[in-house]
Amino acid sequence: MTLSFDPDTVTLPQGHFIGGQYVQPGGSAGLDMHRPSDGQLFASCPIADAGLVDEAVRAAQAALRSSDWARGRPRDRARVLNALADLILAEAPYLGQVEALSSSRPITQVMSVDIPMLAEVIRFFAEMADKEGGALVPTADDHLGMIMDEPYGVVGAIAPWNFPLIMAAWKLAPALAAGNAVVFKPSEMTPHSALVLAEMAVRAGVPAGILNVVLGDGLTTGAAITGHRDIAKISFTGSTRAGQAIMENIARHGVKPMTLELGGKSPQLVFADADLDLAADCVARNIIGNAGQVCVAGSRLLVHDAVAPALTQAITARMQAVVPGPTWDAGSSYSPIISARQIDRISAIVGDSRTAGATLLTGGRAFDHQGYFYRPTLITDVEATNPAVTEEIFGPVLTVQTFADEDQAATLASHPLYGLAVGIYTRDLSRSLRLARQMQAGTVWINRYGRSWDHILPTGGFKGSGIGKDLGRAAYHANRRQKSVLIALQSATD
Ligand code: NAD
Repeated sequence: MTLSFDPDTVTLPQGHFIGGQYVQPGGSAGLDMHRPSDGQLFASCPIADAGLVDEAVRAAQAALRSSDWARGRPRDRARVLNALADLILAEAPYLGQVEALSSSRPITQVMSVDIPMLAEVIRFFAEMADKEGGALVPTADDHLGMIMDEPYGVVGAIAPWNFPLIMAAWKLAPALAAGNAVVFKPSEMTPHSALVLAEMAVRAGVPAGILNVVLGDGLTTGAAITGHRDIAKISFTGSTRAGQAIMENIARHGVKPMTLELGGKSPQLVFADADLDLAADCVARNIIGNAGQVCVAGSRLLVHDAVAPALTQAITARMQAVVPGPTWDAGSSYSPIISARQIDRISAIVGDSRTAGATLLTGGRAFDHQGYFYRPTLITDVEATNPAVTEEIFGPVLTVQTFADEDQAATLASHPLYGLAVGIYTRDLSRSLRLARQMQAGTVWINRYGRSWDHILPTGGFKGSGIGKDLGRAAYHANRRQKSVLIALQSATD
């Protein structure tokens, strides 16, 4: 059976999802939504105001009071979350169409990667619910010391549009497994799949009100979440600029912990002794994939002088082979850019880069195709200050800089703002580990690049790329707080 579908026949959920039911938006106009694959206006995203966000928080608090979600057996939470993962897989065809329709994700990739990964991440965290917890700690014999480990209560979570369901999983799965209720805001550009997911959660047995989805933009809905006094913790993924605004808003309204997964401008270092076919494949795949709209896109190629011509030629060939096509066609593998505005931004940075002296090896313009498709682009002759090297473009644009030795490679790898990921290609194990120690980044990949299915590895940025971790045990523990309890034991009296 083909996965291709007609986008005009997919019924999209409407409204917000609060207290276990859809709540229809009030009077104010929503945001126009255009399908990136053909530019067609297809829906309007409502904007939840502070009052509606407050309603979602009240629903979450009521659900925590009236259900056993936080207080009951952790194993029961795990069972319900595993039932949700089963339901996601059982109803994958509809969820997949909703996801592919409005996002940059081709349906074949949604069905083979995004939805299975969503289910896996939910199972990964479900398994922690009854295995990770408090501790008895060493004290003098006349005392008993323990660390109680508790959920926060209501967690606020905000996600970007680039992998809507996978990003939702990273935020929701650890928060729910850890016994919290959640008020979740998906991106205003891709909100519908989160609504379907929340409605499935209720059918799987998550008590109504434990998972609420409010739709809207950052300035109104996002700010109402981060500034809400009864939201105890914020979990955010998005741009560094929005992360900074969130820190300010949290500080203006109080104090609360936050996890911030932010932007990047990640280098891939290719040494002369590397397997060049492997490096060409990995480097090309990790700027072509999702059309470069990936936080860890390896958007800066640093290559040894001796192999630069051969490598850039191999990457150029791979870039020129991509074929644009709508996300609802099972044969499509190259993603559209999310919006016309983002196409303009990419074009502007590429233009500025050329004005600053860069040379275009391939690409540099949109495809002559309906929808928002930009050609994979390779840029060389760039200084460290060139805008294509410094800016997170969030598009299929790769810059090339060359180095003569390891020291120069390490210096070029460092970015003044970002520290998300680094790729190193070499057959010299000592060199790769020397550099891994030196890199100011939350993830280092050696002779590979890009996320794996090893959800035990936490992901997160250094410097302006973020605070805290998603995935791994760290993400589960970031959704729990610790309380120290010390008991004085009475001496025997008889
Ligand atoms: P964005 O920052 O514009 O928006 C992300 C989310 O934050 C959206 O839901 C948006 O409505 C909301 N938002 C925006 N401003 C806000 C504010 N002031 N207060 C509260 N919420 C606000 O990012 P985007 O364009 O959706 O996504 C692309 C960015 O996300 C890139 O910078 C990318 O690197 C980053 N990202 C990071 C990771 C990671 O794991 N580090 C993963 C995916 C994407």
